[in-house]
Amino acid sequence: MKKLLTLAVVLISSLTVTSQNVHIDGRLQPLLTEFLELCTSYNIDTHDKLFKLNSIDIVNTLSVSEKGSTLGMLRRDAEGAVEAIDINWMAQLDPEILRIVAFHEFAHYFLEYATHVCDDCGQIMAVVNGSYFDIIRDWDRQIELLFEESPAFLKQTGGS
Ligand SMILES: [Zn+2]
Repeated sequence: MKKLLTLAVVLISSLTVTSQNVHIDGRLQPLLTEFLELCTSYNIDTHDKLFKLNSIDIVNTLSVSEKGSTLGMLRRDAEGAVEAIDINWMAQLDPEILRIVAFHEFAHYFLEYATHVCDDCGQIMAVVNGSYFDIIRDWDRQIELLFEESPAFLKQTGGS
């Protein structure tokens, strides 16, 4: 019995070690915490998804050009499984842009948005955002829309 218990303890601690292997950039951590708390309030489970990732990071590998830059991206492994959430360092130029870009990418992954809701309609899940200012000004409603219309939430509530 004691041995079984020891084994269980070892097993549990090794699970903990594995889950600590998700590298999360300190500059994104407060936004991620806020996002995951929102998920919890909408009853969307994020634990397994979070620990499948290698990293949530600010990177300098995404394209930057005057015609448009990639501000964030889900990086996938050879099998197509998401292994990282990459945020372009450029998004840090403004904390509100960083917030929207991070929430957009988090929503692709944790809320299971496989597509965008429109090209440029002033929502967090638009393909491009003509005005970050409009979204921030309307933040609470934007968050409600983002969560209530999300595939993960609709699946969980049995909606369509
Ligand atoms: Zn997107």
